Amino acid sequence: MGRVNSDGPLAGIRAVVFDAVGTVIFADPPIHMAYHRVGRKFGSRIAPEDCGRRFREAFSRASAGRGDGDSLATTEDAEREFWRTLVDEVLPDLADPDACFDALFQHFAEPAAWGVYADVEDTLAELRRRGLKLGIASNFDRRLHPVLDGRPELRGLELRLISSEVGWKKPAAPFFEAVVAACGVRPEEILFIGDDPVNDVQAARAAGMRALLIARGGTPAADTLTSLEDVLENS
Ligand SMILES: [Mg+2]
Repeated sequence: MGRVNSDGPLAGIRAVVFDAVGTVIFADPPIHMAYHRVGRKFGSRIAPEDCGRRFREAFSRASAGRGDGDSLATTEDAEREFWRTLVDEVLPDLADPDACFDALFQHFAEPAAWGVYADVEDTLAELRRRGLKLGIASNFDRRLHPVLDGRPELRGLELRLISSEVGWKKPAAPFFEAVVAACGVRPEEILFIGDDPVNDVQAARAAGMRALLIARGGTPAADTLTSLEDVLENS
C-alpha cells in the first residue's frame, strides 16, 4: 500500500470515490448547446439560451418528487424515461421527437461529448501511486461506461457505481451501502468527493464516510476543495 498519511484529507483513507458530472467530467459543449444543435437537425427552432432556461426548468420539475424514499429507486428504463420527458419539454417543436431523443441520448454516451477537468488526471495518478483504491459513484446510467472507457485520463477509476445499475440514486442510503461494499474497506476509510452538497457530501457522511465538496473557483473553506489537487495536501 502507499505511504502513511499524516493529518491531511487522506489520513486513514484507503479508497477515494468521486461523483462524475461536475466533479471529474463536464458536458462539452454545454448541455444547452447540445440540445440546440441536435434539436435543430430535427426541426426545432428553439434558441440556445432558451434551451438552457427550458432545460433548467424541466430538470427541476422532473427531479421534484424524486427526492425521498422509494422515489430514489431507479432502473435503466426509468433513467431513459426521465431524459425522454426532459427532451420533450426542452424541445416541444420537433418534427420527429423519437429520432431526436435517440440522437440526444446517444450524444451523451459519447466520450467526445464530455470534458475532463484539468485537475483530474494528475490527481488520480498520484492517488493511485499512493496505493489508494479509486472509484466513481454517479447518478448517471450505463452510458457512463463508454464515456469512462473512452477517456484515458479516467482510467484510474477502477470501481464504478452507477445508480441505474445499483438500483438506487444518490442520496439514498442503499446506494452508499453499495459504494462501501465495492470498496471493500470500512466506511470511515472512504473519502467521497462531489460537487453536490446533499447528494454527495451529506449523504456520504450519513453513510459513515468522510466527504469533501469540490467547488472549483469557489472560496476556500473547511471541507471544501477548490481544486482536486488540494486533496493531496499535508498527506
Ligand atoms: Mg455532480
